[in-house]
Amino acid sequence: MKWFVFYNGQLLLLQQGDALQVPEGNEPPVPVPDGHQVHEVTMNDGVKVKTYEIDEGPTKLLQSVKEGGCEANGEACHWTLVGLRDSFNYIPLEDYLCGGKAAQILYWDKHSRFCPTCGVPTVQETPIMKKCPQCGLEMYPPIATAIIVLIQKGDEILLVHNRAFKRDYYGLVAGFLEAGENLEQCVRREVMEETGLTIKNLQYFGSQTWPYPSGLMVGFTAEYDSGNIKLQEDELTAGAFYKRENLPHIPQKMSIARKLIDWWLTK
Ligand SMILES: [Zn+2]
Repeated sequence: MKWFVFYNGQLLLLQQGDALQVPEGNEPPVPVPDGHQVHEVTMNDGVKVKTYEIDEGPTKLLQSVKEGGCEANGEACHWTLVGLRDSFNYIPLEDYLCGGKAAQILYWDKHSRFCPTCGVPTVQETPIMKKCPQCGLEMYPPIATAIIVLIQKGDEILLVHNRAFKRDYYGLVAGFLEAGENLEQCVRREVMEETGLTIKNLQYFGSQTWPYPSGLMVGFTAEYDSGNIKLQEDELTAGAFYKRENLPHIPQKMSIARKLIDWWLTK
């Protein structure tokens, strides 16, 4: 059994030299704080892992975890904390995906303690369902759906820099699905709102679970149809069509934005 232990959004991993791994064993790798629940997480392929949080702040527990020694495969190692996004670069993809689902379950657990209608404490009935004992409301981990679209114009693609991006990279137009909208309408609205452009030949590309904190990214490709770029300035700081030869910094390999750009680069 693999254990996905989180502290403040960071994943607890074992480090041996430069290698990082998810702790494994029958028992929790570090003590489960009082009142914290261990959740069982079942992946799409049937793999089961466990997860819990050590979120008591910089307590003695965390200090002992940070400084503590441990053993894996008979060799000395130590604990380290890595952000979930960053863990993509250090652990196998299937472990990163388990960590993503575990993070979403923990997020849901924290945000569904009380029935939103009655205000009474909810009861967990299954690993992904809680119920209100008073009104019977069932609560499942919510998924926020967002679209992302690669827009081609001849041999160029549209790249934008969003104010929310932490680094200086450029990405694709993206945004959240609104109530009453289908995905295609959402793409056309977001593109119009953010850039003032209309698009054609909209096609589904693929989707990606996005546990930051609990989302699904649905990727599309499209072609420029009409309009001049007029940026929505409270969201975007820059945006333009780029050729293959002069791309700015683009997103990391883990994202569907990068998969869309790589697809276009190898077309
Ligand atoms: Zn209720």
